[in-house]
Amino acid sequence: MSTSTGYALELAGVRKVYGSGGGAVTALDDVSVGVPRGSFTAVMGPSGSGKSTFLHCAAGLDRPTSGRVALGGHEIGNLKESALTQLRRDRIGFIFQAYNLMPSLNVLQNITLPLRLAGRKPDPQWLRSVINGVGMESKLEHRPAELSGGQQQRVAIARALVARPDVVLADEPTGALDTRTGKQVLDLLRTIVDHMGQTVLMVTHDPVAASAADRVLFLADGKLAGHLDQPTPERVAEWMTHLGEW
Ligand code: ADP
Ligand code: MG
Repeated sequence: MSTSTGYALELAGVRKVYGSGGGAVTALDDVSVGVPRGSFTAVMGPSGSGKSTFLHCAAGLDRPTSGRVALGGHEIGNLKESALTQLRRDRIGFIFQAYNLMPSLNVLQNITLPLRLAGRKPDPQWLRSVINGVGMESKLEHRPAELSGGQQQRVAIARALVARPDVVLADEPTGALDTRTGKQVLDLLRTIVDHMGQTVLMVTHDPVAASAADRVLFLADGKLAGHLDQPTPERVAEWMTHLGEW
């Protein structure tokens, strides 16, 4: 695998087998993907197709049975657990369906928490642009319970960006939001790609959410079944119907 590619994230021949013998499940089967820097990629597939396993392998939270994963040109397969933890802190931002904010911390403290955990000081200019970018500048003293779901997800997006990661990994980021608020969060993810040069990889069930991406990757039975560039909700839904019939 090249280490000087334009890929923020690269998977090469990744297989993941859970269990062994007769009970073995191949969750990912020879998956090779390059995610270009500054792009927005969605991953879709039926339930059990390997989406979560894909995200966990990409994040170094789960080790592939074989194949390689590189983040920002750094292969992560041979890293010890402590080095992997540090790499995740420095190079990956996470966004979850359930926001996962700390209830006792205010908005500013939540946003800067990854830096504090890493023992790093925020770059004031970047911090300001991240806070302004998600539109939370007037709520920095608020606690999560005082915010709407959409606002909490915007705080989580700012937290994911604060360390200037190589890639932002999002697991169903609009899953808990109503349609209108979900659309605002997708617009925000689009903005951090288009105006901040961020790389975003998002797992979703929702064809409308997927159509915010530049490219949709489809997984079926742990295999990459194809991709769609410049997706529309209609074409994504068509693909999902086909995959469901397989
Ligand atoms: P998805 O997120 O698309 O629903 P997953 O990646 O969660 O799919 O799962 C893919 C396959 O791997 C499924 O058959 C699932 O049952 C299996 N699987 C996932 N995690 C484990 C695990 N920790 N142990 C055993 N099997 C697993
Ligand atoms: Mg899943």
